[in-house]
Amino acid sequence: MPARLVAAAGALALALTAGGCSHPAPDAGAATLQDAPAVRLERLTQQDVRVANVAWTLALANADLCPVNRPRAGWTLQSASQYGPELRPLAEARYGLAGDLPGVLAAPPGSPAAMAGLAPGDLILSVNGQALRQGDSTASESYDGLQANSAVLDAALALGPVGLTVRREGREREITVRPVSACAYPTQVEVTGTFRSRTDGRHVFISDGMANLAQNDDELAFVLAHELAHAVLEHRSQPDVTGLRGGLNWAISMRRGLSLSSEADADRMGLFLVARAGFDPYRAVEFLGRWEAVDEGARGPQINTGGIYDSAAGRRRALRPVLEDIAARKAAGRALIP
Ligand SMILES: [Zn+2]
Repeated sequence: MPARLVAAAGALALALTAGGCSHPAPDAGAATLQDAPAVRLERLTQQDVRVANVAWTLALANADLCPVNRPRAGWTLQSASQYGPELRPLAEARYGLAGDLPGVLAAPPGSPAAMAGLAPGDLILSVNGQALRQGDSTASESYDGLQANSAVLDAALALGPVGLTVRREGREREITVRPVSACAYPTQVEVTGTFRSRTDGRHVFISDGMANLAQNDDELAFVLAHELAHAVLEHRSQPDVTGLRGGLNWAISMRRGLSLSSEADADRMGLFLVARAGFDPYRAVEFLGRWEAVDEGARGPQINTGGIYDSAAGRRRALRPVLEDIAARKAAGRALIP
């Protein structure tokens, strides 16, 4: 269930992984608690849409490499019930949300959701004639109701095209969504103000700070693709992309089954996933430099195949031969199979 996690606003449906440094994102474009609620909601939404679009492009382009695929619509959904008291009335008014009913937050261009005519602001009322549960509109914030409805939608999509009853600007309409097979790892944005990305083997998570640090879709693709690569390579769940650090995180990573080469492998596979999806893998080098500049955690020892780098600069250097390999394959018209 792709959705946004607003940690700062209260309860979290999914616990955040412990460990790692926390620093406020320096980007003025980031939503902060000090912002007026309407501004926060708008910025969070823009970030969700951006992440959804890049994540969908990666999931679709790399379906043949993912060990787990499923028929997906490509949308990112939200519900009124996921919001706390401050943002909920705004989200209801702005996006026509009601209780646990799934509202379309993002419908990436070219996705089955977009092809079917779904657009942000559409509220999904029923699937194949089965009404979805609206729940108690005054309940405290929780993702449970949205997750339950998303599970019903996913089960229907698994069987083929689905008929949806959708409410848009007060009027109901029937829409048919024809899902396509894509990597089965939905991406979620976690609002923590930190620089984090991680995977639990079923989802990819990126923090708002990390998403803001990525100045273009190519850089954002690198962060998301590194986590997707862990899934493709069937690594076990790992703390975060900054689990590349030494010290305690390193020890935790090892205990969780990451080998010394796991991170280097995920970087290599990640760059291929980026290139296969049409993004520029060279932007990763620039991104890592920027990350190192703002997050002291990124400056620590970095794990690699043969041992531990002295810094993130070593990680950047290790990307070079992979980038050259990808460029050579493209120039020779060879398939980008890592
Ligand atoms: Zn990693």
